[in-house]
Amino acid sequence: MSEIPYKIYLEESEMPTAWYNVRADMKNKPAPLINPGTHQPMGFEELRGVFCDELVRQELNNTDRYIEIPEEIRNFYKMYRPSPLVRAYCLEKALDTPAKIYYKFEGNNTSGSHKLNSAIAQAYYAKAQGLKGVTTETGAGQWGTALSMACAYLGLDCKVYMVKVSYEQKPFRREVMRTYGASVTPSPSDTTNVGRQILADFPGTTGSLGCAISEAVEAATSTEGYRYVLGSVLSQVLLHQSIVGLESKAAMDKYGIKPDLIIGCAGGGSNLGGLISPFMGEMLRGEQEYEFIAVEPASCPSLTRGKFVYDFCDTGNVCPMAKMYTLGSRFIPSPNHAGGLRYHGMSSILSQLYHDGYLKARSVEQTAVFDAATKFARVEGILPAPESSHAIRVAMDEALKCKETGEEKTILFGLTGTGYFDMVAYEQYNNGTMTDYIPTDEELEKSFAQIPEVDA
Ligand SMILES: *Cc1c(COP(=O)(O)O)cnc(C)c1O
Repeated sequence: MSEIPYKIYLEESEMPTAWYNVRADMKNKPAPLINPGTHQPMGFEELRGVFCDELVRQELNNTDRYIEIPEEIRNFYKMYRPSPLVRAYCLEKALDTPAKIYYKFEGNNTSGSHKLNSAIAQAYYAKAQGLKGVTTETGAGQWGTALSMACAYLGLDCKVYMVKVSYEQKPFRREVMRTYGASVTPSPSDTTNVGRQILADFPGTTGSLGCAISEAVEAATSTEGYRYVLGSVLSQVLLHQSIVGLESKAAMDKYGIKPDLIIGCAGGGSNLGGLISPFMGEMLRGEQEYEFIAVEPASCPSLTRGKFVYDFCDTGNVCPMAKMYTLGSRFIPSPNHAGGLRYHGMSSILSQLYHDGYLKARSVEQTAVFDAATKFARVEGILPAPESSHAIRVAMDEALKCKETGEEKTILFGLTGTGYFDMVAYEQYNNGTMTDYIPTDEELEKSFAQIPEVDA
């Protein structure tokens, strides 16, 4: 077999033409979204008030294994895809490990992350439906940036509610979004009922993703010609992100490589879900065995310490409810948490797979994450996003285990993005002022107590 290059690229002609829908191969399907008032499953007619029609169809589609990628989206993908699959020769050498490490790098576009893969799809369907624009929330800013890029390309209006603490700490992200024509509002704001209510209940709050979601949903449902779009968690987003896994698999197949272990960071679950989907499909169909690990912050441990129940997806309780591993919709990670992945819940697809034992989860503390990020940056050249660095941490830990056991495992991890806008966090790390925080059981119990009872 030929020598494996540092970077494996696919030809344009080898790029996937359809997304893969892992739900088609799941025996236990993810539980349906339910109405937060009636607790009844939400169908097409009800969901289309919030989301674009075609995206609702994708959200409800548990049966079609492949869904064709429209040509205009495929052409947009060609501007920044296929993304490279990198053999981390330099990291392997630095760790002195017999493990073979690969990473799929999604930071090669201006948004700096994988989020553009779903942003362009969601904007495309909004445009195809003749809508004027879309609303959304953004935390660290990658999703808002990705969506503003996609909307600029298609000529759609884009309103972004940005978690206030990020709005203030990440002015450059904000300005990238405005450069692409988006309007950016710090959340909570006084522009919505739910924002005004949250400001009254929690004066001085620096905001949360859950709260920004509520504002964006209200803005969409109260403005003619607008719909809400979401950058993670939903099954449609995992579907779009399957492009990451499909390309990875195609690149590996080209060289006859089979990963033993696939690792990804997990916030709402979209990059991990997308990366593992085609591999998970093989496992669900009984064709192959793999080990999958979701990595989350110890300060926001939804899979490793959350409850698998129906919960609100947002603080204002205006969104559909999802059955997922959750810390409670009012959970806000401690203020010293700098490393992203701060959403209280997890994708219903990944939650179900985790519940059924197909996926493992591990939580890591942020100083250990930045140790890994720094080591990786110095040997592989890429300055990773803090979120991505959760996966780097566990990939390194697993490679070091191989050094002890002599196992030549093949490890694949998702390098979801770059960290240029996260230099305040890197500064804390470099100054030695970064601290770790693990919520106590009492704190989590307090948050669990706010989860509503649902008989479903
Ligand atoms: C948003 C984001 C994540 C986490 O979101 P998921 O939906 O869990 O993938 C991870 N890495 C980067 C760079 C991100 O922007």
